[in-house]
Amino acid sequence: MSAGVAASRRAWVGDGDADPMGNRGSAEGMGGEPVRVLVVEDETALAEVIRAGLVDEGLAVDVQHTGPGGLWAASENTYDVVVLDIMLPGLSGYEVCRQLRSRGVWTPVLMLTAKEGEYDQADALDLGADDYLTKPFSFVVLVARLRALVRRGAPARPVVLAAGDLTLDPARRLVARAGQPVRVTAREFALLEFLMRHRGDVVSKTQIIENVWDAHFDGDPNIVEVYIGYLRRKIDQPFGRSAIQTERGMGYRLASDGG
Ligand code: CA
Repeated sequence: MSAGVAASRRAWVGDGDADPMGNRGSAEGMGGEPVRVLVVEDETALAEVIRAGLVDEGLAVDVQHTGPGGLWAASENTYDVVVLDIMLPGLSGYEVCRQLRSRGVWTPVLMLTAKEGEYDQADALDLGADDYLTKPFSFVVLVARLRALVRRGAPARPVVLAAGDLTLDPARRLVARAGQPVRVTAREFALLEFLMRHRGDVVSKTQIIENVWDAHFDGDPNIVEVYIGYLRRKIDQPFGRSAIQTERGMGYRLASDGG
């Protein structure tokens, strides 16, 4: 690896700023590797302009021209940042981004949006992109935006709640037991989330009703037992577990170890 590339990496990740004397710097974990960029763009001429420009900046650049190709490359390899067009053959950039996030790939994504696009830029951010740039854009601006994303690093992963091998992902609204997805209704999800946030503690029926239904609920409080039953039949019984325990006269407890 050339010193030029390593210096470029330091400039990109910010060590150069942190250490103006140029002494060692804290390049921990970087290993002098160049910043790796994946460009997913089906307009081959534009893809080549971006690729050549970023290579000139000292970056390592891979290019994919289709949505499925971009999804595959971003899932199989490790990049510091992804430049993702929206209108792509096979799979839109939105779908690529959504699927990456649902696979737990948190590489920063900069989306390229068309000026007269049928999509709103807000959609890009909603679907997990970290920034967007409207076409046509200046290369200097693209580099500045990428630099900011690389310095910021991967976005924080949403916290996944876990009790043993029972997991609940509030952001992606997924429940899994022993790695197997478990389908639950919205109400069951809310009830399980409440139990998991209080795992190990006894929660009363009243607390459950106030938090999972609402404080003004005036129906039959036995609804809680009904829903506890539904949940047990989904997250416990098929797996031979008993995470949701009944504390007679007090309420319910979700075992911290997942039963
Ligand atoms: Ca396109």
